[in-house]
Amino acid sequence: MALSRMVGPVASDQERDQLAAQLMTLPVHELADVLRRVLPHYTEESNGLRTSLVLATATEYEDEPDGIDVTFVAWPDRDYYDGGLGPDQGLWEGGDCEQCHTEVSSNAKRAFCPVCGSRCELT
Ligand SMILES: [Zn+2]
Repeated sequence: MALSRMVGPVASDQERDQLAAQLMTLPVHELADVLRRVLPHYTEESNGLRTSLVLATATEYEDEPDGIDVTFVAWPDRDYYDGGLGPDQGLWEGGDCEQCHTEVSSNAKRAFCPVCGSRCELT
């Protein structure tokens, strides 16, 4: 028996292509909501370290070749938006998480930090 059969389900290239094609049809705030349900399952904790898999944006500035801003995408506070995802817009809201001081961005003004889980108020 192949090793892949012993360690669990493994998707074929075609299955992963189909999944990627489905995800590419989503507006960014819906894509972020799908990944909110997925990425935390890949968090690893051991020896006092916790490593989270997060979604991030990287913004490059044409007039500053060395300047790249990286922010982590915060998950919309669905309770605040009555079960919704907040406005259907780009990840234009931004700020720092008050708890862990990570710079975050989101489509929503009320969101959760993807690193520490704290509620963030973005502008
Ligand atoms: Zn945080």
